[in-house]
Amino acid sequence: MQSVNPHSQQQIATYAPYDDAKIEQLISAADSTFHDWRTTSFAARAALMRVAANVLRQRQTELAALMASEMGKVLKDGVAEIGKCADCCDFYADNAEKFLANQPIATDAADSYIACDPLGVVLAVMPWNFPFWQVFRFAAPALMAGNVGLLKHASNACGCALAIQDVFMQAGFPAGAFTTLLVEGTRVEPIIRHRLVRAVTLTGSTPAGKSVAGIAGSELKKSVLELGGSDAYIVLQDADLGLAVQTCVKSRLINGGQSCIAAKRFIVVRSVQEEFTRRYVEQFRNVRFGDPTDPESDIGPMARADLRDQIHDQVCRSVAQGAQLLIGGAVPDQPGSYYPPTVLGGVRPGMVAFEEEIFGPVASIIEADDEADAIALANQSEFGLGSAVFTSDKSKADRIARQIDAGSVFVNALVKSDVRLPFGGVKHSGYGRELSWFGIQEFVNIKTVYHA
Ligand code: NAP
Repeated sequence: MQSVNPHSQQQIATYAPYDDAKIEQLISAADSTFHDWRTTSFAARAALMRVAANVLRQRQTELAALMASEMGKVLKDGVAEIGKCADCCDFYADNAEKFLANQPIATDAADSYIACDPLGVVLAVMPWNFPFWQVFRFAAPALMAGNVGLLKHASNACGCALAIQDVFMQAGFPAGAFTTLLVEGTRVEPIIRHRLVRAVTLTGSTPAGKSVAGIAGSELKKSVLELGGSDAYIVLQDADLGLAVQTCVKSRLINGGQSCIAAKRFIVVRSVQEEFTRRYVEQFRNVRFGDPTDPESDIGPMARADLRDQIHDQVCRSVAQGAQLLIGGAVPDQPGSYYPPTVLGGVRPGMVAFEEEIFGPVASIIEADDEADAIALANQSEFGLGSAVFTSDKSKADRIARQIDAGSVFVNALVKSDVRLPFGGVKHSGYGRELSWFGIQEFVNIKTVYHA
């Protein structure tokens, strides 16, 4: 398994995938740790989780540099990502006991209540785009609930995968509480099927989610899926256009455009479409892409050359279908897997840019007749992760929010994850929720206890 720096395109490390015997031994070790870990108090787990938060903060710069070298994230974004992971650890250290407390229920019993017990060994299959955040938002609640975690990270993020295990070890978690398995995606099936693995969560593409969910389903194991998105941002006539353009630009460029909840489809009503597009293109013109370690860079390279090529192919196919290339759209003649900020106008249903997720800095502008048409276009997608509405009318925004088929609707703001709010999608964006109290309850046995 190789780590290739997407800026220099130099191989920076190679890792030997674990063989079957080692994987078997690590799963058994995780399971035996689980039997002790589940008996520890919330206070004991929280104490370790707070140390993990501090380890992350102490190693913030080093870990941001690791992300920059392995997948091209600009340093300031990497520093922010590690800080968010630390906050997530603190949040679950502070709240897990409350979220999972026994709930007394009045019945005909002398005493009856609901208890939340851990499930055991939970496998997490994770993507490279937020290599720390995606993992911590699973690991912090899972470990606080008394589960133990196995991580199968993206093959191009092995350095991050090992660093995460190291953070938990440095914090003093017992061996086996959180274990990285260096293994390719093609070898995940027997791990999901392993009798000691109780559940699986996957953050990644929709095809990977279907495969993992299919295997988990055939074994009757619980799964949570956080998959792709093609978030629609609706801009109405009464929107603050300056705010809308600025927010839409910012959202599309999160992590160089490689974010599940980056805005991807901008659905703008006809009366303001031309002005929105003019201002949008103007702002994209000023975006600086380059070396992720250069503080002047707004966005870095795409994480891998094959992913960059895929984005370019999607842009070319959209243009061939009639989309207008308003800026960008050409692979720069320079080393590194760079792709320029690109805007496609005149995008319509049926075009690649409308139907597929484009995982890079490519904005698709779609004209809507009116509010009803905008809502219909937003929902005309196989995805349903996030969405946003720009309007100055709060009650209109609330009404529209309830009509959009997505896991979240943000009003006059970009979609972002917040540890206090549930995160997830509907349709091909997956099922289940992470974060908030919903996230910690995904991997527990909700148990009825009844005293006659
Ligand atoms: P990906 O190719 O699906 O890979 C994600 C993870 O799944 C990697 O660890 C990968 O391993 C593994 N994998 C791939 N195919 C598999 C299979 N058939 N069985 C088991 N494991 C498999 O996705 P990506 O390119 O890394 O990430 C981008 C995608 O993730 C986008 O669609 C994005 O929207 C989505 N995403 C969603 C969220 C969310 O919260 N909803 C967050 C971030 C990203 P290998 O690397 O070894 O192939």
